[in-house]
Amino acid sequence: MMPLNVLVTDDSAVMRAMIVKTLRMSGLHLGEIAHASNGVEALEVLDAVWIDLVLVDINMPVMDGLELLTQIARRPYAGALRTIVVSTEGSDPRLAAVRAFGAAFVRKPFSPELLRDVVLRITGVAA
Ligand SMILES: [Mg+2]
Repeated sequence: MMPLNVLVTDDSAVMRAMIVKTLRMSGLHLGEIAHASNGVEALEVLDAVWIDLVLVDINMPVMDGLELLTQIARRPYAGALRTIVVSTEGSDPRLAAVRAFGAAFVRKPFSPELLRDVVLRITGVAA
């Protein structure tokens, strides 16, 4: 499998570091890992460099995760980009909207094994 370029989007630097650590423990073949602390920063990265997988927090200042997904859907790379929404709130009504965008969902905190399984499923690569 080709290395995955990943963008980790979360307004918490602690959470971003935890997600990166989990990614590195997952056994996935990773390429570049980029960070963004809100949707605006995420779009700047996505518009500038090739990203295969974006992890998206829902609650962020400036531009939240749902608005980010809305903006991504209008971009030419939307069809090739895989999205995973990472949230503490499994019952958040916004998660229905998340699924409407075709994004996967994982609840914080999550294990390297779960993250690996979800990534392999949505990238269509057999484990
Ligand atoms: Mg947040």
